[in-house]
Amino acid sequence: MKKLILASNNENKVKEIKEILSPLNVQVISLKEAGVNVEVEEDGKTFMENAYKKAKEIYDIINDESYMILADDSGLAVDALDGAPGVYSARFAGEHGNTEKNNEKLLTLMENINDRSAKFICNMVLIIDKENVIRVQGEVEGVIIKEERGENGFGYDPLFYIPEYNMTFAQMDSKTKNLISHRKKALINLEEAIRKYLQGE
Ligand code: IMP
Repeated sequence: MKKLILASNNENKVKEIKEILSPLNVQVISLKEAGVNVEVEEDGKTFMENAYKKAKEIYDIINDESYMILADDSGLAVDALDGAPGVYSARFAGEHGNTEKNNEKLLTLMENINDRSAKFICNMVLIIDKENVIRVQGEVEGVIIKEERGENGFGYDPLFYIPEYNMTFAQMDSKTKNLISHRKKALINLEEAIRKYLQGE
């Protein structure tokens, strides 16, 4: 059985991806389970560049043809801000992972903006081997509201409102969010791309 190393130690991501890929007869393992301990710098200009960089660095470290590597990168893109915070989503206000400051900066920048449409984007890169690399994208559209709503999720979730559900991501339970999220959509596209690859299309 081919083994797939997920370039992440985030337990939620690992669990979600294991579930979605379960019909495909690949054994999904986390970086930790693979015994790899690296911090890849996310300094690319696009989500795809960052995802590829992560996957490739780990592929080169593992250096074993029986392993595939899957990496992802994601973030928020606001239309009226030309796609910002984009690849800077995690460190929008300067400090990595400071959600409170990031959300505050976003609200301040958008104070006088009427067009509040935005999307979460997730790019995934699967390196099957040196010749075969699959790249997919998943997106979910929403609206940036003017004050935070909800306690669940993380990051920009309390500001990301989905009109069809009349809720922000932070008001949804994780099951609902995981059904419609950018990551889920990227995984659906990945599953499809892997099927085609396995069928030799
Ligand atoms: P990463 O792909 O895990 O590195 O995520 C990068 C950053 O994008 C996170 O730190 C968040 O700021 C933002 N982000 C990505 N996905 C989500 C999400 O589902 N909800 C809220 N913020 C997100």
